[in-house]
Amino acid sequence: MSDFVLVPGGAGFLGSHLCERLVAAGHEVLALDDFSSGAAEHCDALRDHPRFRLLRHDITEPLPEDALRARVVCNLACPASPPQYQARPVQTVLTSVLGLWHLLEHARARGARVLQASTSEVYGDPEVHPQSEAYVGHVDPIGPRSCYDEGKRCGEAMCFAYQREHGVPVRVARIFNSYGPRLRPGDGRVVSNFIVQALEGRPLTVYGDGTQTRSFCYVDDTVDGLLRVLDGDTPGPFNIGNPAEHTMLELAEQVLRLTGSRSTLEHRPLPVDDPRRRRPDLTRTTATLGWAPRVSLEDGLRETIAHFRHVLGRDTPVAA
Ligand code: UDP
Repeated sequence: MSDFVLVPGGAGFLGSHLCERLVAAGHEVLALDDFSSGAAEHCDALRDHPRFRLLRHDITEPLPEDALRARVVCNLACPASPPQYQARPVQTVLTSVLGLWHLLEHARARGARVLQASTSEVYGDPEVHPQSEAYVGHVDPIGPRSCYDEGKRCGEAMCFAYQREHGVPVRVARIFNSYGPRLRPGDGRVVSNFIVQALEGRPLTVYGDGTQTRSFCYVDDTVDGLLRVLDGDTPGPFNIGNPAEHTMLELAEQVLRLTGSRSTLEHRPLPVDDPRRRRPDLTRTTATLGWAPRVSLEDGLRETIAHFRHVLGRDTPVAA
């Protein structure tokens, strides 16, 4: 069945990929974005599509008139890169909480379903490994990451509060380190930093000793997972990520190998509260939704490197 779908954050890295999938599935999509980390050109492929529109809007403001027909809301609004969300911590909290409140109020009034893009950051610096959805997390409520971590935790709390009190159908996905084409060169997250540095022949900036781990999920898999959560019958939360876990040193080696770059590694101080390790336990997601990621890190990095070569105007391979 086709719906009118509102996508706050629709011009972002994940949001723009999600909009393409929703339009391809026959839905009418209204994307909202304040362009704090998204960019209108991310939606270029959809710009002239009769079932797609993009409006500049900050969801901490009441929803625009045009949004009020939405029967489905996919909330991807909020910068996800640590340097970006930490640069405007008050706005990060407000987007995650006040912005979501506007969406949930809309859902309560209009009977809409809400998909909330939550995050593995709700687990903080985890003491349990891998992280299942039953793990309640280990977050510093006043640290530099707390504007995002606690904002997203409060977002989950508010989703479930609206479900309990008002019967709003909510769906919560906890996204683990997604990457792929349309990450921006200045994004600040590790995959884009390493690839841009490698392609430009600059040292790869490894924070700390590089033994901390992350589990990287290619964007097509992430978006596929989000759609499964949206279409599922239960609120979750559901982990959406790739369980292949890598140290940052391993990631740096892969990027150097796949780009053919001769860049060196340069160690920088580890950011405060940087989680030591992270890997999704997908037992619930796979059992309930039948979802698991398909794209290997190597294949995903190849696609992402091709994207950055194009964006940086380095379509010819760098010398090996
Ligand atoms: N990191 C790094 N070099 C960079 C950027 C990040 O070594 O140029 C590390 C960072 O300290 C963290 C990991 O890479 O341990 C993932 O960082 P990112 O900002 O991509 O996402 P996070 O999972 O921390 O939100």
